[in-house]
Amino acid sequence: MANITIIGSGIIGLSSAYYLTKSGYEVTIIERGSGNDGCSFGNAGMIVPSHFIPLATPGMIEKGIRWMFNSESPFYVKPRLDWDLVSWGLKFYKAANKRKVDKAMPALRDISLLSKKLYQEIAKEPDFDFAFEEKGLMMLCKTQHSFEEEAEVAEIANKLGIEAKVLSISELHQIEDEVKPDVAGAVFYSGDTHCYPNAFVKQLKAYLQKKGIKFLYNSEVTGFEVEDGRIKKLKINHSLIHSFTHLVIATGSWSPILTKLLKIPSILLEARVAITPMADNLIRFGGTMEIGGINDEINMNRVRGIIKSVPQFFPDYPIEIPAKEKVWYGLRPCSPDGLPYIGRTQKFKNLTIASGHAMMGLSLAPATGKLVQEIIDNEKPSVDIGLYQPERYD
Ligand SMILES: Cc1cc2nc3c(=O)[nH]c(=O)nc-3n(C[C@H](O)[C@H](O)[C@H](O)COP(=O)(O)OP(=O)(O)OC[C@H]3O[C@@H](n4cnc5c(N)ncnc54)[C@H](O)[C@@H]3O)c2cc1C
Repeated sequence: MANITIIGSGIIGLSSAYYLTKSGYEVTIIERGSGNDGCSFGNAGMIVPSHFIPLATPGMIEKGIRWMFNSESPFYVKPRLDWDLVSWGLKFYKAANKRKVDKAMPALRDISLLSKKLYQEIAKEPDFDFAFEEKGLMMLCKTQHSFEEEAEVAEIANKLGIEAKVLSISELHQIEDEVKPDVAGAVFYSGDTHCYPNAFVKQLKAYLQKKGIKFLYNSEVTGFEVEDGRIKKLKINHSLIHSFTHLVIATGSWSPILTKLLKIPSILLEARVAITPMADNLIRFGGTMEIGGINDEINMNRVRGIIKSVPQFFPDYPIEIPAKEKVWYGLRPCSPDGLPYIGRTQKFKNLTIASGHAMMGLSLAPATGKLVQEIIDNEKPSVDIGLYQPERYD
C-alpha cells in the first residue's frame, strides 16, 4: 500500500489524512510541535461560504495603506524593510484587480460549498460532536457607508447563489432582540455555519489514531533528499531520515452574558472582529490581521483595537482588556492573491501542497482534504482547482 507522509498536523493536514485514510492509504503525520495548539484550535470557528471575495481586492489596498498608520487597526502591515514583505506586497497588488477577483469568486464559492457539505457529512458520524451549528452569520455594519458597501456584496452573493439578506435596523433588532446591536444595518448570510474548532481538531486526531495513523510529534522537517525529480526522504530534526511514496505539505504559516444573548455568530464589519458563541457558554472574540511574517509577539495595541470595537456595536456590553498571557494568537498562512495553494507540484512528482488558507482554513479544511485525496488518486477534482495551482508564484 502506498505510504503517504503529511507535514503539519493543523486542520488542513488532519483533513487530508482523514480522506486519504478513507481511500485506503497508510498515512504518517509529522509535526514539529506537540499538536495541541496553533491557529487550527483557537480560530473563530466560522465556516463561511459568505467569504467568497478574496483578501486581495482593489479596495483593500487603499484600506491597507490607511490602516498601516494605526497599530490598533484590523488589518495591519507592520512597516519594515524586508524583501519577503515587499515581494508579497507586489504580488498582492498585482492580484488586487477586478478581473482576478471576478475569476476567484466562483472558485472560492465552490470550494466553500463543497467544504460545508463535507462538514455536514462528518458532523453526522458517530466519532464526531464538535458543536456544528447552522445558524448563519450576521455582518454588523456600524456606519451607513459600510452598510451600503455590504449591501452591494450581498447583491453579488445572491447572484452567485449564496443567500444574503439585507436587514434594516428594526429587522435586525427583531432577530437579536436582547442585545440590540447599535449599528446602521446588517447583512445575514443564512448558509454560513460554525463549530467549536478545538473539539473538531481533537476529534479528527482521535479518529485518525483509532484508524492507525502514525503521528510523529516534536519532529521538525529540516530537509529533503531528492532523486529523479521525486522527494525520496525527509530529514527530521536534522538527522533522522524518513521515506514515503507521496508527500503532502500542510504546514500552513468574554463576556458569558453576551454568549447567552447573542444568538448568531457575527462579524463587526468595520472592526473586522468575529464574535462566535461557542459550546460551554464561551464566547470567542477573534480578529485583526497583521502581515508580519513568522512572529509570535502579541501586540497589545492590536488586542485593544478588538476590545474597543465591541462596545461600539454593543454599548450595553463593555468588555475588559485581558491580561497579555490570556490572549491567544495564531498565524494565518496568507498567499498574495488570497487563494489557497492546493495541488501537485511540477517540480517534484510526488509532492502535493495544501496551504495558504489565510482566514479560511477551518472553512475550507474538509474540501482541501478531499481534493488532496483526489489529486493523489489522480481522480477528477470535485471542484476546479486551476486557480489554486501551488507554483503560481514560483
Ligand atoms: C484569530 C484567528 C481567527 C480565525 N478564524 C477563522 C474562522 O473563523 N474560520 C476559518 O475558516 N478560519 C479562521 N482562521 C484561519 C484558520 O485558523 C487557518 O487558516 C487554519 O487553521 C490553517 O490551518 P493549517 O493546517 O493550514 O495550518 P496550521 O494549523 O498552522 O498547521 C500547520 C502545522 O504545521 C506544523 N509545521 C510547520 N512547519 C513544520 C515543519 N518544518 N515540520 C513539521 N511540522 C511543521 C506547525 O507546527 C503547525 O502545527 C482564523 C485564524 C486566526 C489566527
